[in-house]
Order: sequence, then C-alpha cells, then structure tokens
Amino acid sequence: MSFGKLPGALAMECRWFTINYSDYDSVRASDIKLNKSDFRWTARPNARSCEKRYDVESIVTHELGHDFGLGHVSESAHGNLTMSARINGPCQSAERSLGRGDALGLENKYR
Ligand SMILES: [Zn+2]
Repeated sequence: MSFGKLPGALAMECRWFTINYSDYDSVRASDIKLNKSDFRWTARPNARSCEKRYDVESIVTHELGHDFGLGHVSESAHGNLTMSARINGPCQSAERSLGRGDALGLENKYR
C-alpha cells in the first residue's frame, strides 16, 4: 500500500491472481494506491480538524474488499455499503466496517 499520484481516482487496487477453474482463484499479491496529489487523508476522520480529508481506513477496507473478490454494489440501491462505488464523503468513518450486504457477499463467496 502506498500514497501517490492517481489521475481521476481517490484510490485504486490491483491484484495478481491464479485462475483455478475447478476451485477459487488464488490472489498472489496486491497493491493499493491512495491518491495524495488530488486528495487529503486522515486517520482521524471524526476529529474537528478533519477539513475535507478522506479516511484511510475506510478506503483501505473498500479496496481490500476487492482483494477478497467483491465488486461494487449499486450506489443508488446500496450507497451506504462499504462496497458501493463511492465513499460517503470526507470526515466520516462509516465505511471502516462492513455492512450487512458486504458481509453477505463475502459469506456467499467463501461458504
Ligand atoms: Zn472499488
């Protein structure tokens, strides 16, 4: 995981994996980059000093969801889930944990 320049995106996750046609795919490695050139970040999103900074933990939770095989859910139908395509905004930490729909998605994938 690193901070860097990422035109047009708040963050991005890339993974390398082996496709297993008879079983689960195997993630071999992954990288997460947080865009520090266009966005400001914080580990204390609920502090009064936040000032439009995005919560590192919330974004990393979302990106790790992709590592575990989750895709995006509809923003209009499930905007409060961690795996919705857009974060709810800066200076909040609601997406640090998984919503019920996120957990059900994982459960469905790995049962
Ligand atoms: Zn995503």
